[in-house]
Amino acid sequence: KQAQRAYNFNAGPSALPLAVLEKAQQELVDFKGTGMSVMELSHRSAAYEQVHNQAIASLKELMGIPEEYHVLFLQGGASTQFAMIPMNFLPQGKKAGYVVTGSWSEKALKEAKMFGDTYTIASTKETNHNRIPKLDELAYEENTAYVHVTSNNTIFGTEWFTFPDTGDLPLIADMSSDILSHPIDASKFAMIYAGAQKNLGPSGVTVAIVRPDMLERANENVPTMLRYDTHVKNNSLYNTPPTFGIYMLGLVLEWAKEQGGLAGIEKMNREKAALIYDAIDQSEGFYKGHAEKDSRSLMNITFRLASEELEKEFLAEAKQAGFVGLNGHRSVGGCRASTYNAVPYETCKALSEFMINFQKKNA
Ligand code: PLP
Repeated sequence: KQAQRAYNFNAGPSALPLAVLEKAQQELVDFKGTGMSVMELSHRSAAYEQVHNQAIASLKELMGIPEEYHVLFLQGGASTQFAMIPMNFLPQGKKAGYVVTGSWSEKALKEAKMFGDTYTIASTKETNHNRIPKLDELAYEENTAYVHVTSNNTIFGTEWFTFPDTGDLPLIADMSSDILSHPIDASKFAMIYAGAQKNLGPSGVTVAIVRPDMLERANENVPTMLRYDTHVKNNSLYNTPPTFGIYMLGLVLEWAKEQGGLAGIEKMNREKAALIYDAIDQSEGFYKGHAEKDSRSLMNITFRLASEELEKEFLAEAKQAGFVGLNGHRSVGGCRASTYNAVPYETCKALSEFMINFQKKNA
């Protein structure tokens, strides 16, 4: 029997691949003959450790993460990383530089300010974060401890595709909403982090990928659980990790390999996003995209209609037609379709057809 699946455009937590959910369902009460659910396994058991280490290996393989980098599974969401990064990597006498491209970058910067000196490398606030800065807008000050960017701006719908070359300055990226969506050169980054709940799995797991030299320069006076080296030394098993979430993440990574890895996934994501961007671009202004064309996100497609009244009507009809999660974030208004890895092509096709029909009826 075919499962009844929603047209899910939620910004996060968001859709998971059906195949992953079905696999988890099959294994739910008896994981590989253990007579236990993964949820019931000791985190010190061999069966669980296999799940844990395989997830690390799969992530390294898929993202092309250099062998020596550490892959950590943490808790507290990407929001806790906003504080952990400056706690560990912003020493006195240095400054942390932030590129502010949306609300999440602003939140990251706000946390850093509590621990030391910071500066804004560039900000796109003036145009309500509708673009990614050009590389020549980025200027770094002396004594910069690290450079922080948000690779995909979930709320505003913009995404970096070319990252700055920061030379010796460690580049740190919040990839919460586009990790695993297209190939990147992981070796450019001193650290990458992401809450799992968009492209990686269920909420409750936070992935941190850390270059080893960062640990050598880390601050000393940091509580045990908030130190990266605690988790590095213990392979993310210092305390009880979110075992079921890590298991689900592992299943998502196996699924991603079956899609042809990140190159295969990028191809699908481009085709999916094009369906919806084309509906916007061919609407002769009926739909107005928020992001400038060359900054458009493949993950979050933000658009407006002529009036708030018409937007309300659009959202109400879309809801009626079975579309979930299309309301824009309150800071942009309008509509947002989140087309993460697990959102099927057919779901995006259905939305683009709905948009075209809605326009015909209301133009
Ligand atoms: N960073 C980005 C880019 C996000 O999209 C989000 C959540 O939507 C966060 C950070 C916050 O993540 P968490 O809820 O895991 O703390």
